[in-house]
Amino acid sequence: ASKQLKGALDKHGYQVTTYARPHDLLITRGKGSKLYDDLHNKSYVDFTAGIAVTSLGHSNEEVSRILCEQSKKLIHSSNLYYNAECLDLSKKIVEKTKSLGGQYDCSKVFLCSTGTEANEAALKFAKKHGSLLGPKKHGIIAFKNSFHGRTMGALSVTSNPKYRTPFGDLVPGTSFLNIHDELSVFSDFIKNKKDEVAGLIVEPVQGEGGVFPIPVEKLVGLKQICSENDVVVIHDEIQCGMGRTGKLWAHAHLPKEAHPDIFTSAKALGNGFPIAATMVNEKINSALQVGDHGTTYGGNPLGGAVASYVMDVIGNEDFLEGVVRKGEIFQGRLMKLCESYPEQIKDLRGQGLMIGLEFTEAPKELISKCRDLGLLVITAGKSTVRFVPPLTISESDINEGLSIFEKAVNEV
Ligand code: PLP
Repeated sequence: ASKQLKGALDKHGYQVTTYARPHDLLITRGKGSKLYDDLHNKSYVDFTAGIAVTSLGHSNEEVSRILCEQSKKLIHSSNLYYNAECLDLSKKIVEKTKSLGGQYDCSKVFLCSTGTEANEAALKFAKKHGSLLGPKKHGIIAFKNSFHGRTMGALSVTSNPKYRTPFGDLVPGTSFLNIHDELSVFSDFIKNKKDEVAGLIVEPVQGEGGVFPIPVEKLVGLKQICSENDVVVIHDEIQCGMGRTGKLWAHAHLPKEAHPDIFTSAKALGNGFPIAATMVNEKINSALQVGDHGTTYGGNPLGGAVASYVMDVIGNEDFLEGVVRKGEIFQGRLMKLCESYPEQIKDLRGQGLMIGLEFTEAPKELISKCRDLGLLVITAGKSTVRFVPPLTISESDINEGLSIFEKAVNEV
């Protein structure tokens, strides 16, 4: 069977897609924090969770059950009619955001299917708000090292030139600032451009860029400057939200006055089922009108049913405490590794179970070594190994995976 699969891969494999040739694995099954590859008849500890998606583990039984049951009842009916599953999900998001996220004034939820789409909505909503304040107020501030998606709007606020330059002119009006600059730099810039800037978009923990948690005081200061200048603050929590940092939302680590006007969620929201959401406060909601935005699949009952369940599990204080505890175990062990390899390892960063280990050189060989030894990890930025395991991972799987990682570091 393996030979046949290998033949099929060679013949019909991924040569014509835009992705780099994937690892030569054929993943056919997953369970919890393990993935199974039929080409090599091997199992792997998975520290990628489908790039921070399957937070409740692979083939989560309850998720599978809900998908099966809901698909027998109703898969899609469009946004022309209400459906109970998405009403329930939206209510839960609003209520849990208020109870677990401090007193953030989360008022309405726009459901869609992918992260980039949730950000497109956020950018449009910020621009609409700006347009009511002045004819030129539709620019967006974004940050160097950011990643917000690959559609034209989201790409316009994504900084990596490799993703942007082949596509010529993107949506005009984006200014990229450096998140490491002093607050006074932002303040001067925003005051100067007050009439032209509608919104600012930031990942509270930059993910693809290399796992950089943005310091609390920076996010607090930015929100204050933006509020004083009628600039809408958008937090992209597509990767760092939904419990990943040990709170339901990353912005819940901030004082209430620094909470965003808009924030976005995707990835873990559906545990692998494509569903995403853009949350707005009352200020933004009141700027929106019927017809401003829409999507056919957004808010379908299948996604709604699954995400409601995921929200119940992750939006539970005991579960979130578990994430913090596991994050400490994980980081504690990596800290020891840093001490043992001071020449090779430059930095350890992270929050909860979103962890980055920066090496002095690009860790390509290390990633392959890990895979050969039975561990799946990914990179972020140029030289950081990113650890985003399922949030349900057991301590024994953490230890098993980290033992493999230590061995790989030792061998490359
Ligand atoms: N924003 C962030 C912070 C992300 O990490 C990603 C995906 O990696 C996106 C947006 C885009 O999400 P999607 O790939 O679902 O469109």
